[in-house]
Amino acid sequence: MDEQKKAQAEELAGQLSYKKTNFFEASDEAAIQAAYDYATGYMDYLNRAKTEREATRLSVRMAEAHGYTPYTFGMKLEVGGKYYYNNRGRNLYLFRIGSEPIDSGIRIAAAHIDNPRLDVKQSPLYEDGGFAFFKTRYYGGIRKYQWVTIPLALHGVVAKKDGSVVDVVIGEEDADPVIYINDLLPHLGQEQSQKPLATAIPAENLNLLLGSRPYPGAEKDAIKLNILSILHEKYGIIEEDFLSADLSAVPAEKARDVGLDRSLIGSYGHDDRVCAYPCLTALFDTDASAHTTMVILADKEEIGSDGNTGMQCDLMTDLIAEITASLGGNFATVKANSKCLSADVTACFDPNFADVYERRNVSMINCGVAMSKYTGHGGKSSTNDAPAEYIAWVRKIMAEAGVIWQAGDMGRTDLGGGGTVAKYIAKHNIETVDLGVPVISMHAPYEIVSKADVYTAHEAFSAFFRL
Ligand code: MN
Ligand code: MN
Repeated sequence: MDEQKKAQAEELAGQLSYKKTNFFEASDEAAIQAAYDYATGYMDYLNRAKTEREATRLSVRMAEAHGYTPYTFGMKLEVGGKYYYNNRGRNLYLFRIGSEPIDSGIRIAAAHIDNPRLDVKQSPLYEDGGFAFFKTRYYGGIRKYQWVTIPLALHGVVAKKDGSVVDVVIGEEDADPVIYINDLLPHLGQEQSQKPLATAIPAENLNLLLGSRPYPGAEKDAIKLNILSILHEKYGIIEEDFLSADLSAVPAEKARDVGLDRSLIGSYGHDDRVCAYPCLTALFDTDASAHTTMVILADKEEIGSDGNTGMQCDLMTDLIAEITASLGGNFATVKANSKCLSADVTACFDPNFADVYERRNVSMINCGVAMSKYTGHGGKSSTNDAPAEYIAWVRKIMAEAGVIWQAGDMGRTDLGGGGTVAKYIAKHNIETVDLGVPVISMHAPYEIVSKADVYTAHEAFSAFFRL
């Protein structure tokens, strides 16, 4: 072939074609090191915040260290002021007032801090066959077979009638005991092995193993009594107190580097701390932004964003109304001009299950934070389908900041799907699109993300707030 024609065609392809950029191929050593360094802070956040309550508490501490102060309704706000609103200890709003008129809108990044887990039921404690157990109700979309025979920790609170609230954490210190869910031995597992994955472990088998030692001298339910006595000694609680408790079993494992090249992070709760943490660091890094900026860390996303700590609660618009009123703006104008990145994870292409993805429209590992124009199911039902104009605006700020990012669908259209908080924000007349980190084994007790992708999320949210 004519060498000149070949070169021309190559040049044209370079100008006209689009392909994803691999972070490692496109970055110098310093940028790669920055991504690895950033992961250290993220992994510390993961280990210290396994529930929405813990994530709220830790995020408040981080915000206070960066000069954020508690906001109360009706408070007079100042340009440059940094505020947080702690909604019931499970949902957090952080906002910084920019120098631009409030009518130009607010830059909002919204992630969620609840994750799939096993919640303890209201009358949970029982004894059977020489063991004591807690009954559980699973929270969010879990694949039940993944939660048996792994070390679990108990996290949460017990609220007592006298108004006091007791914090419970068992299983996080190396010297702590863990709890556990039994599974069948293969020797007797032939019937179970014939069942579909979804039904092989029924929900009512997800019972937390708590102990096996009887209380000395007790004639009835002696093992249960012994557990009650241990809990009473440590936390001052009695059985009736379980009626008013938020207790959850979560994986006891800590976040760790995965892979011999340490390019990946394994942890419980990447969905959606892997977006929550970059939203926070981006907010703290963009103090000089002229825009009013807001980070929302929502609860209840995994169960439909219902409840007064979820994104379907009126609190977001109440806060926008309060901010608008304090700064003399117009509520409808502020909403109409606001822009939101719904910061939630998406599926990452997994070659072990290649056929569930649509290869031309899936997020690839190390190709950066991923934008989903739409989520939902089937024929785009139940989704905020972000408009082309807004996506073009996001493309522009990403390009200006040099952020490596990609676009990606979750998987093959007819296989299932999922939702995010995007549609609950967009319905208030706010431009919204999903942007988040691709995850391998999403919703499993131990999920995988790439350090490069986490770092690009931080860069993307920073660009969004700054530019
Ligand atoms: Mn999520
Ligand atoms: Mn999820």
